[in-house]
Amino acid sequence: MTAPSQTSARTRDPIYSRGRWPLLAQPTTLVVYLGAVVALAIAVIVVLARQTPLVVPDLVMFAALTGCGAVCIEATRRLGMPAGVSRDLLSAWWLPAAFLLPPLYAVLAPIPLQILLQLRVRATVVYRRVFSAAAIGLAAGAASAVFHRWVHDPDELYGGSGGPIAVAAACAVLFTVLNTALIAVAAHAADPEGRWGEVLWDRERVLLDAVELCLGVVVAVVCGLNLALLLLVLPPVVLLQRSLLHAQLQAAARTDPKTGLLNAAAWQREADTEIIRAQRTGVPLALVLVDIDHFKRVNDTYGHLVGDQVLIQVATTLRSQLREYDVVGRFGGEEFVVLLPGADVTEARRVAERLRRRVGRMAVSAEQAMVTVTVSAGVAIMNVHGEDLIELLAAADLALYRAKELGRDRICLPAAPVAPPPRSADGATGAIP
Ligand code: GH3
Ligand code: MG
Ligand code: MG
Repeated sequence: MTAPSQTSARTRDPIYSRGRWPLLAQPTTLVVYLGAVVALAIAVIVVLARQTPLVVPDLVMFAALTGCGAVCIEATRRLGMPAGVSRDLLSAWWLPAAFLLPPLYAVLAPIPLQILLQLRVRATVVYRRVFSAAAIGLAAGAASAVFHRWVHDPDELYGGSGGPIAVAAACAVLFTVLNTALIAVAAHAADPEGRWGEVLWDRERVLLDAVELCLGVVVAVVCGLNLALLLLVLPPVVLLQRSLLHAQLQAAARTDPKTGLLNAAAWQREADTEIIRAQRTGVPLALVLVDIDHFKRVNDTYGHLVGDQVLIQVATTLRSQLREYDVVGRFGGEEFVVLLPGADVTEARRVAERLRRRVGRMAVSAEQAMVTVTVSAGVAIMNVHGEDLIELLAAADLALYRAKELGRDRICLPAAPVAPPPRSADGATGAIP
């Protein structure tokens, strides 16, 4: 739900959103939710600070774990950070704080590291950093409180008995679940039409969570044994963090940041591979070029942010209607390109028609209206309209041009190849000039 004052053209302007108070340009529910989480974290810190005696060994361990987190951040800083949501392995440092130190330290632990990320890695809008620190702190604080309730002496963690380690693993899971839930609610408040499943469940994400949990528990056991052993666990964690970031940067370099589809260069590489395979095996293949009709009018009427939402929704619709091995990318602007391995002319027409119909049915909510769009598509078939990628693209582009000329909201194939006109006896063609 969006309050009217926040849907004005001014507040939806991305430049304004990047201004001094970007938080105020967000939906009211999001602002209230973020404020509530941060206020709760501050209240928890105040209450715990009153109850927790400050002792030197605790402070030393806290400083050592935070120092390891800082080394990890510094060691990966030069690699850069992918745009959007990125993953790190910093829980490897705040989970041990949650198990080995009183809960106050778990709530505090993310604060210095979020500040370091903001200052040294990527300066993002401050409210996001503050919310991240609060959400991680609350989740880690809850995990810490539950752990200390079940395991009265943290020394038991490295005493060799399985029970405390099992409790630590369960509390690490609790930490992840709470942290994910706090972030998912924020993501939902920011985009009420987004699917919960996309935020909560993703195979890669669960695998990474599992790695983080294991690391957190192992580091806790090791540094509980002897704080100096942190020097032995730090290098492998740094290495893991670097390879994780490298993989994320590689994925980001292939992806169009707005729609999440392949970008033009990555699409072309994958399409080339498919075309070589189709040439070798003789399996049919089709290419569909999809262009949103009168998209400029959407921007002009509702603004670029709504235009962007339309682009994202068209991309999602296209992806959802295609098979896993179809290669779909954003070709540029409001143009998408799909390669359909194994599709002959009948199948390609059927798929393109389905894409056209599905996009025509979707709607994006704007200020006081639902925005709908139509698409036109040009279809080209391998070995009929072209022999390689360049020829197929040229043929599909021509077909798309025809679809636009014929009135849009339709699919077209290139005009049927015209048989060469019969030659007269003197060698001149019989074509009418
Ligand atoms: P046609 O039916 O002939 O394709 O008309 P059209 O308006 O869709 O095509 P035109 O090429 O005139 O305009 C394309 C518009 O797409 C202009 C450009 O501002 C807009 N556009 C390109 N990329 C983006 C983007 O990333 N976000 C938004 N919001 N608009 C974009
Ligand atoms: Mg267009
Ligand atoms: Mg276009």
